[in-house]
Amino acid sequence: MSIKTLNGECLCGIVSWQMKGPYEFFGMCQCSRCRKVTGAAFAANLFVKPEQFLWRSGENKRGEYTLPLPNTFGNAFCNKCGSRVPRQTAKGWMLLPLGSTMEAPNISPTLVQLEDHTEWFTKLNEIV
Ligand SMILES: [Zn+2]
Ligand SMILES: [Zn+2]
Repeated sequence: MSIKTLNGECLCGIVSWQMKGPYEFFGMCQCSRCRKVTGAAFAANLFVKPEQFLWRSGENKRGEYTLPLPNTFGNAFCNKCGSRVPRQTAKGWMLLPLGSTMEAPNISPTLVQLEDHTEWFTKLNEIV
């Protein structure tokens, strides 16, 4: 497990945060909700305990959307630029959009939700 400290920020930089290892889970999720919320083939999320997480700026500049019960899914975003930003899950974990991290995370991802595997993403073409 990595104990590296990582910093993240939204596109405009108003919302920023820091997290400290050890990191236990980095999930790449391909479920339909994660694809919708990111607009991408998968969400890349690091999960840490609240005591491993610190807001550096802009905590009050965030918007948050939660799907109605019984769903345990939502999204948090910068009110200015719309980038995904951290949020606390219903189970108490801090969910961090790892693509907004400034440093390499030093933890390998786990692919989740294989049943929603997006074939169109895995058939990659290379630009030569
Ligand atoms: Zn922003
Ligand atoms: Zn998902």
